[in-house]
Amino acid sequence: MLQAGNLSARAGEKTFGYLETAQSRSGMRLDIPVHLIAGAQPGPTLMVQGAIHGAEIIGSIAILNLVEKLDPAVIRGNIIAVPVVNRAGFELGERGSRVDAKDISRLFPGKADGSISDQTAYIYFKETITQADVLIDFHAGARTAYERYVLFSAEDDPDNPTQLEKNRRKLVVAFGLDQAAFFPPGTFGANTAKKAIEDVNTCQITLEFGGGTGWFKNGEDNVRDAERGIWNIMKAMGMIEGEMESDGPLCTVYNAGVVIWKPAVDGLFIRDRKFKDALTVGDSYGRLVDPYTGDLLAQMPTPKDGIVIPSGQEWPTVGATSIGILGSIDRVDDRRTMDLSVSF
Ligand SMILES: [Zn+2]
Repeated sequence: MLQAGNLSARAGEKTFGYLETAQSRSGMRLDIPVHLIAGAQPGPTLMVQGAIHGAEIIGSIAILNLVEKLDPAVIRGNIIAVPVVNRAGFELGERGSRVDAKDISRLFPGKADGSISDQTAYIYFKETITQADVLIDFHAGARTAYERYVLFSAEDDPDNPTQLEKNRRKLVVAFGLDQAAFFPPGTFGANTAKKAIEDVNTCQITLEFGGGTGWFKNGEDNVRDAERGIWNIMKAMGMIEGEMESDGPLCTVYNAGVVIWKPAVDGLFIRDRKFKDALTVGDSYGRLVDPYTGDLLAQMPTPKDGIVIPSGQEWPTVGATSIGILGSIDRVDDRRTMDLSVSF
């Protein structure tokens, strides 16, 4: 029996329902849509989630496409598939939740007695993430167009990786994209959500997948390959049979250690550089201009040497926000020689 809060599926069954979470002070409910796919045979548990940032929906469509095809009769283990985690943000096409101005993805393990996002994070984490061996977390550029890559956290001690960290390295490559990037510890400050997820022994990989205006017209390949990646992870976990498919044999892994923060002035960010451009310190990374007059407000020279990894906000670029990331090539993994299977 696969169970998540008020929802359940018996072995060999596929069910859908809304996970009861919390309600706002006026009684509005933000219960989370959850598909439960309980394989006929026992095995590990895979969780896939989309739109924990409400405007980032490429993974959501890939998840719906996947769920339609999943046949519990031939699956070993369980799948918990959540097309939209953050319904408050999704409703308005926004990243966070306007109900309490919080970002659920940063709140795990949540708080039973906090605001509505704290409570939602608490129940969602307890009922779903804690029982997942692997969590695939889909993000995208929303209005901003990103390149596509797997994102993951670096090992706390690279010379002595944990079993979870070793598995994560394999899953990053197994997903099938030709590039991945990791943030060294502390790149964005302390990340308590990451720690909470690792503390319950759930191996998380995050995806950044395209975005930008006209994403549906231009995003078909991303939706297809996001779904392909989930099938690959199921194969790596031994949940289904079959050959993995990928962009190619190699996966370039970037150490994404340098965040470029916007200067103190607010404006429209014009990116001068594209993915994989190699910069040396002082080269122009971009400009901030007045969105109405076009006047130059600030030049943004690159603070360090590095390779451009598109990420961060382009508009609205107000307040403290990152507008880009620089990396260096850490390694190039070869799928032809790596054993990508993981066991739990
Ligand atoms: Zn996101």
